[in-house]
Amino acid sequence: MSKAQETILEIDLKALKHNFEFIKSKLNNETKLLAVVKAFAYGSGAEEVALYLQNLKIDYFAVAYVYEGVSLRKAGVTLPILVLHPQPSNFNLAIEYHLEPSIYSTRILDYFIIAAKENKQNNYPVHIKFNTGLNRLGFLETETASILKQLKATHAIKVKSLFSHLAASEDLNERSFTKNQIDAFKSIIKKFIKQLEYTPILHQCNTSGIMNYPEAHFDMVRSGIGLYGFGNNPEIDKHLKPIATLKTVISQIHTIKKGETLGYNRAFTAIKETKTATLPIGHADGISRQFGNGKGYVIINSKTAPIIGNVCMDMIMVDVTLIKCNEGDEVIVFDKEHTAENLSETIRSISYELLTAVSQRVKRVFYR
Ligand SMILES: *Cc1c(COP(=O)(O)O)cnc(C)c1O
Repeated sequence: MSKAQETILEIDLKALKHNFEFIKSKLNNETKLLAVVKAFAYGSGAEEVALYLQNLKIDYFAVAYVYEGVSLRKAGVTLPILVLHPQPSNFNLAIEYHLEPSIYSTRILDYFIIAAKENKQNNYPVHIKFNTGLNRLGFLETETASILKQLKATHAIKVKSLFSHLAASEDLNERSFTKNQIDAFKSIIKKFIKQLEYTPILHQCNTSGIMNYPEAHFDMVRSGIGLYGFGNNPEIDKHLKPIATLKTVISQIHTIKKGETLGYNRAFTAIKETKTATLPIGHADGISRQFGNGKGYVIINSKTAPIIGNVCMDMIMVDVTLIKCNEGDEVIVFDKEHTAENLSETIRSISYELLTAVSQRVKRVFYR
């Protein structure tokens, strides 16, 4: 990897392969692996990541919205794509690009059957989502009979999978809650399958579910964050490699005198002579304003430089008083060692949020 000359997000595809293989090693041979590539593959670049995983023989993809699936199809993804959170206004587009919707309510089921009929579909694959405690999206167990009734009345759609989502799979203090979710899912699928002449794919686990609840792998598991190198647990993190490195450069160095202020609203006042570096990355690139005023930091020549003053739209300023550095030097925002997880903790956030926040104006560079 070369020295950065501007703000870039480097993606290490070999690390992605490593994470893929580690996750696979946790599964039985028959268990399918679905890669969650929503939100630009958690900021990494959905097309490149999906095509790479398709080559590694991943089984399935999921995105949140229909237009994300359309981009993958246009890029050459041919594997099945589950759309986790589709809206009826995009159903015709979903069918045109052969994207498989999650059906999470009666309203969505009704609309999708209409769209499938209008598009003269037969056995169009859909995924029925059950709410087992997250209370976000999904049918309740009590709705099973009415779903089945609607399914039996049409040939336009066919259930490809039944699934649910865990609320706290990373939190071992919530073991009993999670086990209840798993039992609730088992009870639903038992009822459901009895009424069908075929067995759909069953799935419930996300990355932490894969690691903590092997008994709940069913036929398929869904991994997002694990593929990108984070496991929501230091023990699991040891085995994973963060695939994204966010780098920038020093645009200018200033020496400000005791009593002078820096940045918008004069939020920082120098209590002694202070050397500062201005970097071309700001809140419009994904560095939240929360990181300002000493909370967040970057790494310059292996040393920690705190962000001082308010985060601007296109810039941050960092304190480099004790760091030997020059204009043009490379700066690490996060990498495999100084992880996105650690940086996000300084503002009580999580790797997911920081990774997906890296905006589309930051150039992505892929390494094999
Ligand atoms: C985002 C998402 C996932 C992926 O979760 P990770 O914790 O990133 O592995 C899995 N399933 C559903 C329904 C999701 O929305």
